This record gives sequence, C-alpha cells and structure tokens, in this order.
Amino acid sequence: MARIPDSTVDDVRAAVDLVDVVSDYVRLKKQGVRFVGLCPFHNEKTPSFSVDSRQDLFYCFGCKRGGDLFKFIEEIEGVGFLDSVRLLADRAGIEIAEEEGNSEEASEKEAMLGALRFAARFFFDQLKTPRGQRAIDYLGQRGFTKETVKTFGIGYAPDSWDTLLKAATAAQFKPEILEQVGLVKRREKGDGHYDVFRDRLMFPILSPVGKVLGFGGRIMPDTKKDGDFEPAKYINTSETPVYHKSEVLYGLKQAKTAIRGEEEALLVEGYADVVSLFQAGIKHVVASSGTALTPQQVRLLGRYARTVVLLYDADNAGVNAALKGIETVLAGGLAVYAVTLPDGADPDSFVQRFGAEAFRTLLREERQDFVGFIVQHARRLGGLDTPEGKAKT
Ligand SMILES: [Zn+2]
Repeated sequence: MARIPDSTVDDVRAAVDLVDVVSDYVRLKKQGVRFVGLCPFHNEKTPSFSVDSRQDLFYCFGCKRGGDLFKFIEEIEGVGFLDSVRLLADRAGIEIAEEEGNSEEASEKEAMLGALRFAARFFFDQLKTPRGQRAIDYLGQRGFTKETVKTFGIGYAPDSWDTLLKAATAAQFKPEILEQVGLVKRREKGDGHYDVFRDRLMFPILSPVGKVLGFGGRIMPDTKKDGDFEPAKYINTSETPVYHKSEVLYGLKQAKTAIRGEEEALLVEGYADVVSLFQAGIKHVVASSGTALTPQQVRLLGRYARTVVLLYDADNAGVNAALKGIETVLAGGLAVYAVTLPDGADPDSFVQRFGAEAFRTLLREERQDFVGFIVQHARRLGGLDTPEGKAKT
C-alpha cells in the first residue's frame, strides 16, 4: 500500500476549506456559524445537512452521515481515504510525495494510468481524422450524439497493427507498460509488440473519479475478416495491475450523481445500453463489464444507491443471471428489483425505438421484487415444488 505522509495530509487539511468543497456538490445557506443545505447523500425536501465551518465537520441529521473533509470526499466520490487526499491535494495544488518503500510500485502504477489516459485520448482524437470517419458514421447509425460520444470518451482504434504502439512510444510510454495494461501484445515470432485493439469502437472504462482503467472494444460492423478467423464482437481489457473488473462498473463516473439523486441504480449488460439510456435522460445506469455482478460491485453501488434494478433478457440465460444478481444484491444489503425486457429487446434498442417515456413506464410497471421474480420464473428455475409451479403443471 502506498502511504501519504501525515504532514501532507495536514497541509491539505489546512489549505482546503470544507465549505468550499461541499459547495461544489450542495447549495449551502449560511445560518450563524453553520451552513445548511439539502443532503447530497439521501433524498430530502427540507435541509438536514449542515457544515460547521469552525470545527470543519459536516453532519446530516437525516441519514446520520458525518465527518471531516476527507470523509466527505470519500462518501461523495466513492473513493478511499488515500484517493480523497490525492483529489483534494490536486485541488489545492499540493504535490504529494508518497512515502518510500513502495514508491517504485506507485510510480509504475502512475505510468500505467498515464499510458491508459494517453490511449483514451488517442482513440478519441482518431474520430477527427479521415480514417476515423467510418467510426463517426457508425456512431451516427447507432444514434449516438456528439455530446454523448464526448461524455463517455468513446473513440476509435484504427485498422492497423501498430498505430497506437507508435504514437505511445513516441510519447515515451514503454512497450512493457503498454503490454501490462493490455493495450499491446508481444509478437509470437520475432521482436516487438502489436496493438490489441484494431478497427474497433473504443469505450474507456473509468474509475468513479475518472481515471482510465481499461477499455471495451466493439468490432465495427464491416470489419474485414482475417482469413477464416472470426474476430470477437467485443474485446475487453483483462485483469491488469490497475484494472480489476470485479471491482469496476462501466458508466459509474457519469451516472453517480443521478444514482445518488434517484437512490437507485439500473444495472444493464452492455456499454451501448448504458450510453443509450444515459443519452435518453435515464442517467442512473451502469453495466458490470464482462462479468456477473460481484459483491464488490454491489458494495460500490451501495455508496450511492439503496436500490438496484436489474434489467435482463427474457431467455433462460437472462433469467438465471438475474437470479444470481438478485442474490448478490440482497447479500450486499441493498434492495433489489428485476425487470424483464420484451423478447429480443435490449435496453439500447428498446429506448432508441420506443423512447425514454416508454422505458420509464417499463421500469415502473414491470419491476418485480425477489418473491415476484421467483414466482414468475419458478418453472424455468426448476422450482416446480412452489405452489405456483404446481398450479401450472
Ligand atoms: Zn443525509
């Protein structure tokens, strides 16, 4: 674990004003020595959240959350203590000298995050080049607006074996670092590396505070086949020292404010589902990138939401996945509902075809709690000994 010297923590505390920081998230009104406002952590109509500017503490009489500057950032950004110090130090322009012992490891991680950030920018910038035009066309066909593309940092990996590799090494990123974060692979024959993502639409996977951790790359609809080799529809960054997919949710960076407001998170399957719903104004939506929902992901959602709504396909695989998801959410102490999509539809196609209002209606009227879900799917789940199952046989 990296450590930040106590003296730096004190410097940050001295340099940053709690009222200032909270004001980025809450509209505060002065009341004597206190500032009060609507609590950012729970839904309320009358303010029970207050900041004591003399003691530099916040407290909510509604949800009982409280603490100091760092605690506030931990809660609102969904980060740990170290990241809260880093974020606030950044804001105050204080440089952090992380303590020795692991500084080598820390700087290697920094290099990896730097390489990922570079790659995200590189893929995004490709959209402005002639070879990126086919990606622009495809994004247009999918109904994604310019603003949405920017919000999610969607980009394009060119149809080439080494465009990223060349650009990144020219920018002083070592091929070994690029390899460690899954952007390039070592050639099997001969020396050197090659780009992993080629001719793909690129979805950067971000941490809640916006660090690029990895990518999902979707194949272009008209990608040339490589002989008999059929390329995968999606390539996702696999586990790396900075990307642990069981601990990350796609779209959380963009969705967290809306999730906090709704006290609810929608869980969908794909990148395009998240992006489409967000664009349609249904912003409290995330996806578990390429895994079944994990306990760590539920814990992460619990920082923002009380309820998780799972959207799933009507087929057997979908029902089984939803059942596992329901169990994971309940075990994590959050409330859970499941919503079945009409046959053959995914959230992306549904909202693009029928619009946001129809989707909201679906969410409201079709949600089932655990019991309702079990009853409806008893036969599929093999639960013929439930009363409902028997009645139907
Ligand atoms: Zn509160």
